Amino acid sequence: MIKVERIEKPEELTVDVQKHLTEEFKKDKKKSVWNKKYIRDKLLKECNNKCVYCECFIGEGYKEMHVDHFHYKDKYEDEVVEWNNLNPSCPHCNKNKSSHDTYEEPIINPFEQNPQEYFYLKNYRYYSRNDKVEKIVRDTIDVLGLNDTEDVVKFRFEQGEAIIEKIQEIYELANENKYILCSDTKKKNRVLRGCKNILSKGTREAEYSAFMATIIKDDIYYGKLKSILIELGIWNEILQELDAKVDEIKMQTIPDM
Ligand SMILES: [Zn+2]
Repeated sequence: MIKVERIEKPEELTVDVQKHLTEEFKKDKKKSVWNKKYIRDKLLKECNNKCVYCECFIGEGYKEMHVDHFHYKDKYEDEVVEWNNLNPSCPHCNKNKSSHDTYEEPIINPFEQNPQEYFYLKNYRYYSRNDKVEKIVRDTIDVLGLNDTEDVVKFRFEQGEAIIEKIQEIYELANENKYILCSDTKKKNRVLRGCKNILSKGTREAEYSAFMATIIKDDIYYGKLKSILIELGIWNEILQELDAKVDEIKMQTIPDM
């Protein structure tokens, strides 16, 4: 989970339209009045085609996007098409959350709170950083099923292990060819391209980016690879920019002291 920014609501969702749709919903709660193309398109854009809770890809070619009402719609009817109440999510998180009342028992809303301040990551799972946030962290994990092995942990594990292997591979390529790298354009480009690919998996647009960013930054061989490239003078602006982006979203790997 990473901090997500709200974008402007769709132009079509005017005050009048919102009022009308809300009335329609109040008359018939079975009506998916929020299910409009202009709403769905904007939501997908807002979240970079990722579930705002578990960060799996959603939308065309991936899991279907569910529109999660952060405050449960059947109880808080007036918020049924309130733009700030619509959170793009995956079927897993939306179904788990179902009718949970987030006013009575708050969970972390990545549009409002920065998940970095609440979680630390270990073994592809979320944990509470400290006792002060323990309650809301536990509730968030339990309500959304954020540590469910079959539905989410397994996928983070697969992608995380793949990135660790890739880092090892590129590091070895760079290290073994350290003294010829600058004059061997083909090898140099392979290393630079590999490093760029690794880092792109840890930016906010990437799937499970909180985990991927943390894994990359925590990997001893990534640190060594970066040092070699800096030492050889081939660490470039693109890599620096990506490296900074990954830094922005990585999480702690130990609880607060
Ligand atoms: Zn999800």
